[in-house]
Amino acid sequence: MIDSSLIAKYNVPGPRYTSYPTVPYWNVQQWESEKWLKLIQMSQQKNASKNLSLYIHLPYCDSLCTFCGCHKHITKNHQVEKRYIDAVLKEWQLLAISLDKNTQINELHLGGGTPTFFAASELSRLIEGIKYIFPFTPNSELSFEAHPNSTSLEHLQTLHQQGFRRVSFGIQDYDSIVQQAIHRIQTVDQVANCHKNAQETGFTGISHDLVYGLPKQNLGGFQKTIQQTLNFKPQRIALYSYAHVPWIKGTGQRGYNEEDLPDASLKRQLYELAKQAFVTEGYIEIGMDHFALPSDSLAIAASEKKLHRNFMGYTTQTSNLLIGLGMSAISECEFGFAQNEKSVSNYLELIEKGKMPITRGHEMSKGDMEIRQHILNLMCRFETLIPENSVISKLELELQLHELITDDLVEMNQNTVRILPKGIPFIRNCCMAFDAYLKDQNPVKQFSMTI
Ligand code: SF4
Repeated sequence: MIDSSLIAKYNVPGPRYTSYPTVPYWNVQQWESEKWLKLIQMSQQKNASKNLSLYIHLPYCDSLCTFCGCHKHITKNHQVEKRYIDAVLKEWQLLAISLDKNTQINELHLGGGTPTFFAASELSRLIEGIKYIFPFTPNSELSFEAHPNSTSLEHLQTLHQQGFRRVSFGIQDYDSIVQQAIHRIQTVDQVANCHKNAQETGFTGISHDLVYGLPKQNLGGFQKTIQQTLNFKPQRIALYSYAHVPWIKGTGQRGYNEEDLPDASLKRQLYELAKQAFVTEGYIEIGMDHFALPSDSLAIAASEKKLHRNFMGYTTQTSNLLIGLGMSAISECEFGFAQNEKSVSNYLELIEKGKMPITRGHEMSKGDMEIRQHILNLMCRFETLIPENSVISKLELELQLHELITDDLVEMNQNTVRILPKGIPFIRNCCMAFDAYLKDQNPVKQFSMTI
């Protein structure tokens, strides 16, 4: 069990590092689309592989879960589906003109929002339109996020036919008191039905996604959720930390009080309880919030030190280009980042006028590129090597890491920084020591707490 004084010491606002630099420090407030497309082309020209990862954001949800921090649009009107899919396909066409003609897709993820808000036929039309322009590689990995309340057998069969083999069921917690607090009611039977349908349809990578730190969670209730999850024996379990950021407009995190949230110490105990149970049952802990059976590709990639991380989270596919399509989606290439318009109506209007919907982003400096790699190494492999010609001053880094080193959470030997097993819960704090933007400016309030 982690010393509570360490939790008190290191539980500060900090980034999750799905990107570096993190979004609040991006330096372009209004991208010129020509400039962004040029960076994508430079990235493809520089690398022998023309493969890319594709993320498609499908923002609609039937009802609001009050803990949600995603970019979503709540509606019961399913007439919106066709217009949105048309827009995503048009965005893909607009972008494809600038891509290398040998481009192939080696990873596709449908996220949201609720992808299964859309009819199976619309999702099928989407995938057909995507592959009409560029093909998938033979080993491509196609996955989608599934809400147990809206995932039908038809969804599973249609997407399986389109090549999908991975599905993540958003479980969060089975405790009915927690479910009421977060306004997301779904029974074990509903999940069991979806899980069985996915298995019988031929999905070989089923993930159950839990969240710890939610309002009203306690050890007894979460223990039951953990056991129930293990009864399904999914290939992967994601155990996400609830990010309490009610000041970010539109997150809907106002359905409960601060007192309903577990404190930092209890929150960490919830994680440790789950970790212990999963590891005992043979799961391997991956990075900072995933568990996988040893036969799963994520566990294999981790053992071979080939794990990668991007806006979609931990992944086995390493490509230099991630294209995000849809409202609010983020793209990443070697030289920068770009984010799409965050209002669904503005996104649709821009696309329908034939304009790229990108807004803000970041153009990478040489220093950004090196630090991005260090953070990626720490997040995926728990260690990184500082080269001789580094942009980082080793002396300064050692000073930044001093407390973590003194507390036996991190070690620094010559040129290598290594996170020790006891330091894994503090991985975000270690990454913060590398973050050049945090040194110049105080951590901004947008960030959730690190523990
Ligand atoms: S948690 Fe998922 S289903 Fe719930 S509001 Fe957020 S995006 Fe929609």
